[in-house]
Amino acid sequence: MRFSPPRTVFRDFSTLSFDYVPERLPGREAQAQRLATLYRPVVEAGVPVHALLHGSVGTGKTHTARRFSAQLIAEASGRQRTIQPLVVNCRQKFTADDVTLSMVRNFQEHFPTRGFSVAEKLDAFRRDMQKRRTHVLLVLDEVDVLLKKSGPDLIYALTRLGEETAAGGRERVSLLLIAPTAEALDRLDAATRSTFRRTNVVEFPRYTAEELRRILKQRCELALHPSTFTDEVVDLIADIAAEYGDARYAIEILQNAGSLADEEKSPELSAEHVRGAKASVHPTDVEEKVRDLDRAHALALLAVARRIRRKAYLVTSEAEESYGLACEEYGTTARGHTQFWKYLKDLEALGLIDSKVITRTARGAPGKTTVISLPEIPAQVLVEKLERKLG
Ligand code: ADP
Ligand code: MG
Repeated sequence: MRFSPPRTVFRDFSTLSFDYVPERLPGREAQAQRLATLYRPVVEAGVPVHALLHGSVGTGKTHTARRFSAQLIAEASGRQRTIQPLVVNCRQKFTADDVTLSMVRNFQEHFPTRGFSVAEKLDAFRRDMQKRRTHVLLVLDEVDVLLKKSGPDLIYALTRLGEETAAGGRERVSLLLIAPTAEALDRLDAATRSTFRRTNVVEFPRYTAEELRRILKQRCELALHPSTFTDEVVDLIADIAAEYGDARYAIEILQNAGSLADEEKSPELSAEHVRGAKASVHPTDVEEKVRDLDRAHALALLAVARRIRRKAYLVTSEAEESYGLACEEYGTTARGHTQFWKYLKDLEALGLIDSKVITRTARGAPGKTTVISLPEIPAQVLVEKLERKLG
């Protein structure tokens, strides 16, 4: 008897993951060209350049930045210059301490976690750049979270780093900031803001249906067997996702539609698979945000999501009670009130929860209370994602 492998429409499932960066990014040719032009002085003369990329979720900011930094590095090495790329996701590192630690660790893997101030870490970083005679292209993704949590001082310091050393020194930092809107710049101090001139702000508009079609077509060719998809199915997904202009949403629908086809042992994706997939996919980047959370914050969010399932708003004491239970379940010691409060503030800066202060009357006396709500997706969906993450 011959053993036949399970039938699947997928040829290479990995090309549908968040982290897969395709060689070409259809619909982002203009932005890539803008970046190449803007950063030319870095390659040609080692002069630092700073820019901001902004656009809503799934508009290709992160991946365009990754492709661009790879290209810049290659171009510089052709000219006997070194440029080191360094990407920091400020959703994971949202304090100046964390960001500067990742920076020094890029050169010194075992640099100690504690015991050095931000200024000392920047100094160590500068010396490492000098030792290696390298310019650094620092991509600060989701920089709005860093700015919200820690203010503009670090960005200011980075634009000045290495300025005082010998003239002509090329050991400087170029920044590439990424945020959902250009308003991120309003959080910078005036001096730093002026280094991001109007021309150094690159917009990533929502994708049109036509652009999404090209993106999907490329992804289908990478991920699926040739005879399993039709133009009609690609068009349908593109039209659905065009409402948000979000490529991530489009690719996730494609992936789920493929899984539905497999479940039904169907040889190809049908319109009905696409419609079925749409029902279970949410047009947000909450998946990515959850992935980026550390365990402590994930537990705090799980506590909120579980408790809020049957309500619109939660008072913090309810959240804290639920947090105690969640910690017990996962064998973790619950942190105290002050720390839990900080977790909530962090989750708010990440856009995972909202909070507002209301006036309530308790025992006849009015008083102010903070209430929490969930902005993005149903609590139950969030609970499932978090439980999966926490294992
Ligand atoms: P953002 O950072 O703006 O939220 P990403 O760069 O993370 O968006 O892109 C989201 C997803 O969509 C990724 O899986 C990425 O590969 C895909 N994607 C975005 N833009 C394109 C594009 N122009 N071509 C191909 N894939 C794209
Ligand atoms: Mg991104």
